[in-house]
Amino acid sequence: MTVHKQHRANKALGQHFLHDQHAIQKIAMTLPENASVIEIGPGPGAITKALLERVGHLTVIEKDDRFADMWRKESQTCDKLEVIHDDVLKVLNESVHHHQPEWIAGNLPYNISGPLTAQLASHALSGGMVLMYQREVGDRIMAGPGSKTYGGLSVLARHHYHVKRLLLLAPGAFSPPPKVHSVVLLFTPHGIAPQCPFEHLQSTVRKGFAHRRKTILNNFRGVIDTETFENIDISPSQRPEQLDYDAWVRITLLLHPTMI
Ligand code: SAM
Repeated sequence: MTVHKQHRANKALGQHFLHDQHAIQKIAMTLPENASVIEIGPGPGAITKALLERVGHLTVIEKDDRFADMWRKESQTCDKLEVIHDDVLKVLNESVHHHQPEWIAGNLPYNISGPLTAQLASHALSGGMVLMYQREVGDRIMAGPGSKTYGGLSVLARHHYHVKRLLLLAPGAFSPPPKVHSVVLLFTPHGIAPQCPFEHLQSTVRKGFAHRRKTILNNFRGVIDTETFENIDISPSQRPEQLDYDAWVRITLLLHPTMI
């Protein structure tokens, strides 16, 4: 396989190429042998090569023309590899429906990792996800109620998954080195049937976290009153970061009283 080391990193595409062998192996070995996987942003392929040695089918989604071309050529002689040359934010949902992967993996481009995670978390995969983030974003996803970093992404990630940190990586694990540390998170399906559709939960947390310093009553002013909050066991004077996943679901069911 020809992987050109001289590829220059394109900042606009959040390119920091992983070269830490321990991390590469750890990510690949987390996936079961023969699994069917989507990798987001293969770039020059540090993770991709390790995945191709292990998994049964790999679909890569890459926006950079250079890397998409390189992997497309590779796919001509590698049956288990398929290439989607596009913006993952545009094609993720359709690709997941079409390929039905058990797992999603990737060292995510940091400039889109927030909105991308909101999309990724909507898919209940049977295997799970192994995803690399800038530490600050990873901490937001992992955070629990009461923490300053707890927010919409922390709630959305819990809809289908338990999240734990697999690795913490120093900037030197990448070329070029980013300014901050990175983390690899493992998303494992918790198997609890969701009580509300993901999209409804998403619109609730968007509204509920719109003003973090305001009380939950103020964030939903004109929509939910004090008594109604009390009826669903939520104190209206709480701030959004104090509400756990179940409380967000209770608000969601109030706003969208539909059966699923
Ligand atoms: N997987 C490689 C590694 O670990 O060394 C590269 C990771 S680099 C952090 C992010 C990758 O995502 C790059 O290959 C970049 O071109 C690609 N990328 C950036 N934005 C993208 C987008 N919107 N859609 C698809 N791929 C994207």
